[in-house]
Amino acid sequence: MNTEDNLNKQAEAIQTARIGDGQIPLSDEDELAVYIHFPYCKSRCPYCDFFRGLLPKSFNEQELIQHYLSDIAYFADLFPHKRAVKSIFFGGGTPSLLSPQAVDLVLNELQKKFVIAKDAEISLEANPNTFEQNKFLAFRHAGINRLSLGVQALQADDLKKLGRTHSLSDALTAMELGAKTFPKFSIDLIYARPQQQWDTWQKEIDTALQFDLSHISLYELSIEEGTPFFRKNIKPMDEEQSLSLYNNTVSYLRSCGFQRYEGSNLANSFPDQSVHNLTYWQGEDYIGIGEGAHGRLRLNGQIFTTLDGHLDEALTPLERAEELVLMGLRIEEGVSDKYFYKACGIHLFDFLSKKMTKRLAQLNLLCYDDANIKLTDKGFTLMDEIILELVS
Ligand code: SF4
Repeated sequence: MNTEDNLNKQAEAIQTARIGDGQIPLSDEDELAVYIHFPYCKSRCPYCDFFRGLLPKSFNEQELIQHYLSDIAYFADLFPHKRAVKSIFFGGGTPSLLSPQAVDLVLNELQKKFVIAKDAEISLEANPNTFEQNKFLAFRHAGINRLSLGVQALQADDLKKLGRTHSLSDALTAMELGAKTFPKFSIDLIYARPQQQWDTWQKEIDTALQFDLSHISLYELSIEEGTPFFRKNIKPMDEEQSLSLYNNTVSYLRSCGFQRYEGSNLANSFPDQSVHNLTYWQGEDYIGIGEGAHGRLRLNGQIFTTLDGHLDEALTPLERAEELVLMGLRIEEGVSDKYFYKACGIHLFDFLSKKMTKRLAQLNLLCYDDANIKLTDKGFTLMDEIILELVS
């Protein structure tokens, strides 16, 4: 074993000793979220590192549905009773390429094997192309009550530069239709595009705000290895400029009534926050249906990862604790000691380095009391670095 392995082992042993190796004291009664993964897209956006493949010419929807149904049955059989579902999310890829009948079938099966809560959030990601717009109403009838629309830009040139296949007019029509059709309507927008200036970006935000949006997700354009943008040597925006755009955007959207509840996500009101994404960030249970889907599931006193529609590895208490801090600090309300203790069997401030927590608080990057720790506005601009400092 080399020195680095030794050090890692030691660090793990120390932290495990701090958090104990006991069972995770959670009941299986808690509600869970369900993620349904649709892996294909009609074309590849050159910035995207989520892309998994083009929709095959020979695509067989029936086969995919059978796959979904068998994953649903597998998870349902893990429990002696039907578990309640508070959120279902069709994501991808481009899940709006599914037929509304397929969505309906999957939701019916979930209803048979689980108990879908009356007020469950049922989301679908869609692109603004006319092919998908024409299905919005049928998706609504199938049970979708929240649409997450990949608008990305509201400028014709930038849509082209981003390699999107929809036009500005497609985006505007889809937004109008989306807001009218679904009780909850969210859009994704990409900022920090090359040469992007605040005044033109502000106009795009103003255009977006003309529609009845309940939620906005902001994505910083990053140039990831393996993407066509990376191969073309497209340069990311300078960090400082990108940060300034981000800060201006959050302040501006706040002045328009939106609240940031997670680093990249803003909601028009408290009930408009994404129940599904909060499930991830708050460390609650979710199962992933379909190939490539991930999940986290508490079972028999342990927490398991799920992968490709099946249980995978059990997380160690240390991994669980680190994950809760990593995810929980992304949200405005931060991590509560009460929940952390319930999930890991140790108090939050016995796990985190007291010295580091105090130092970061003195730098006005986070604030804490006995019950909770959360980032400040300044802390949100250095979120990834702070989280690493805290858990390493
Ligand atoms: S951004 Fe969306 S539509 Fe474009 S390639 Fe990625 S997953 Fe597909």
